[in-house]
Amino acid sequence: MKLRIPSDRINWTNSSFLMGTAFVTCTVVPYYLWHYGVDLFQVAMFLLFFIASGLSITLGYHRLFAHMAFQAKWPVRLITLIFGATAFENCALAWVSDHRRHHKHVDHDDDPYDISKGFWHAHIGWILFKLNPEPPYDNVNDLRKDALVQWQDRYYVAIAVGFGFVLPALLGYWHGGATGALGGFLLAGVARVVAVQHMTFFINSLCHTVGNQPYSNKCSARDSWFMAIFTFGEGYHNYHHEFQHDYRNGVKWWQWDPTKWTIWTLEKLGMVDGLRRVAEDKILLAQLADARRRLGEKLVCPKVSANARLHELLRASDAKLHAIGERWTAVKAQYAEKAGAMKAEYAERATAQFDDAREALAEMRREVREALRLLEHAGAMA
Ligand SMILES: [Zn+2]
Ligand SMILES: [Zn+2]
Repeated sequence: MKLRIPSDRINWTNSSFLMGTAFVTCTVVPYYLWHYGVDLFQVAMFLLFFIASGLSITLGYHRLFAHMAFQAKWPVRLITLIFGATAFENCALAWVSDHRRHHKHVDHDDDPYDISKGFWHAHIGWILFKLNPEPPYDNVNDLRKDALVQWQDRYYVAIAVGFGFVLPALLGYWHGGATGALGGFLLAGVARVVAVQHMTFFINSLCHTVGNQPYSNKCSARDSWFMAIFTFGEGYHNYHHEFQHDYRNGVKWWQWDPTKWTIWTLEKLGMVDGLRRVAEDKILLAQLADARRRLGEKLVCPKVSANARLHELLRASDAKLHAIGERWTAVKAQYAEKAGAMKAEYAERATAQFDDAREALAEMRREVREALRLLEHAGAMA
């Protein structure tokens, strides 16, 4: 079989940079390490630049600029714009424009990293081959009003090269002369860029391929704790696609999401505010609906039908979920007027002041958890 590469559509700037940095990371970097070794300073600098650029993408480019999941004072915006540029993933305006189109048209033609075109396309192919014609940045007018975003757009290449390559080289020189400078450039510069880029690319490829879908199966996005470890918490991608304006991706307190913890800490320090959270009942109702969908699928599965006890357990669980969903709707309607025109999250908090509402919410939490456990058990049996 012949591999056909659409050479007329190759984006030479992107391709040369991606291939060049990957090539240097696989050849020159190991040679440097073998020849000169590595000291604690170089390791610390690699980690520092990796965290600074990675978090600037997830916290800054993604949750702040693309989704406006919170508001940030200028120092947070400035730092995330500077170190976001050092990930060499384009200026914030272009990145956000692509990402908003991804959410709007997910899994369809106008989704820039459409997973239905294949894993390779979603991971990196979409960057190597330019779109013809390039879509207009008509979905980022809100960001254009931000003077810092405009500034980053204008000086993007200088900022990216200056802070992404020159700064680690200078710091390396300060610590270890010419060898240190080369190490800084190769490790905290080039190898770190490759690591951060593939971390982000994996969100578009693997997070639409591996993991489960606890909130919805409307699109291909998946939750994966494993992916969350490498992506500063962005691995909870099914939740994110369902509730994209929430500042959390790992919404449960125990889910690994360093980006949400950083945002929370910055709020305590007074650097950000207006953190958006989806009301708990809304999240539980989504989980409940999805659990019922999966229970329904299991109930018609021949292997489950053959197991009378399991079939009965699943049917009873479905009935319980239905009943608790109805109960919650009734309780909520009862207090809706009292909650008045409050914002959803405040209304939920106000409703939770009443004993029966609190009880109904706790019951819903319990039943959803039970149903998920049962589904897992049924999955292992059938
Ligand atoms: Zn996605
Ligand atoms: Zn997003």
